[in-house]
Amino acid sequence: MKKMKKIIPFIILSSGLLTGCFKGKEEANVPNISKELNIYTERNYDIDKSLISEFEKETGITVNVAHSGADGLLKKLEIEGKDSPADLFVTKDAARLGRAKDLGLLQQIKDKEVLELVPANIRDKDNYWTSFTYRARIFAYNKAKTDPSTLSTYEDLADPKWAGKILVRSSTNSYNQALIASMISANGEEATREWIQGLVANMARSPKGNDRDQSKAVIAGIGEIAIMNSYYLGKMIHSTDAEERKVGEQLAIFFPNQDGRGTHINVSGMGITKYAKNVENAERFIKFFLSEKSQTRFANENYEYPANKNVKANSTVQSWGDFKIDSLTLSELGKYYKKGIIMADEEGWK
Ligand code: FE
Repeated sequence: MKKMKKIIPFIILSSGLLTGCFKGKEEANVPNISKELNIYTERNYDIDKSLISEFEKETGITVNVAHSGADGLLKKLEIEGKDSPADLFVTKDAARLGRAKDLGLLQQIKDKEVLELVPANIRDKDNYWTSFTYRARIFAYNKAKTDPSTLSTYEDLADPKWAGKILVRSSTNSYNQALIASMISANGEEATREWIQGLVANMARSPKGNDRDQSKAVIAGIGEIAIMNSYYLGKMIHSTDAEERKVGEQLAIFFPNQDGRGTHINVSGMGITKYAKNVENAERFIKFFLSEKSQTRFANENYEYPANKNVKANSTVQSWGDFKIDSLTLSELGKYYKKGIIMADEEGWK
């Protein structure tokens, strides 16, 4: 983490800087323009670091990054208020983006042209945040062992026929918390409580490890179905670690709930903070992250789905086929988050 530097307030000269043509390096010489951008981010991927340094090179803007958990960053923004050095809030959870908006910690993104690159279902309806990538919460199974015609829905994983076969990480993880929230949104609280009970009863082991560890346990024969984020499969197939590659190659992917509401997704997204001192730089950063060049790199280096509708997913990811996305408005997730966490805890999903 770089140290946050003192922020020098500046006067917004004209909106032409952003809406006009993107001049890259030349703009580095424009006087009286802030040359800083301060980002609070939950994401800790190499691709983000690499793109941030490219942005710095291209614009002459110094980017300071504070990395921490999403809830911690939200608290920090709340406590700091007007004095916050943060210009951008970046997270990998739509519920947290929704919460940031609801808490009044964000301001509207003004560049409509950039926002229009992103499908409406993965950005805020009032332009307070936009996604830049998304991922599906899928089932991973052993190609050689499982007949995919036995797979159907998240709900089905609670059926006693899967006793001792389900692998999933802890419910304290935000990926599962968002999944549970989506289940409450679709089926209501009582049905979701019963689902959690059934799922816990079917677990191959007490939850441990991360998403990738669940799929490794599938290949090790500990269980049959792993609940996992889609990009991990891409990462494993293309891993530099031969062991991981071997596991990845034996796995297949299944998109649940295709005959119904669709597969649950979550996004990585960002919003400009309410009290940002470097609004134009933040707008420029959003434009940069959503550019075809950056989006292609997210797709090919992190195996996430690019949010820019003009950019294709990585070819491995494309080979899994198109899928129907859960139509739930992502910002709705926030409504059911807390309830889901309490229920998972009460029902023994560790
Ligand atoms: Fe992850």
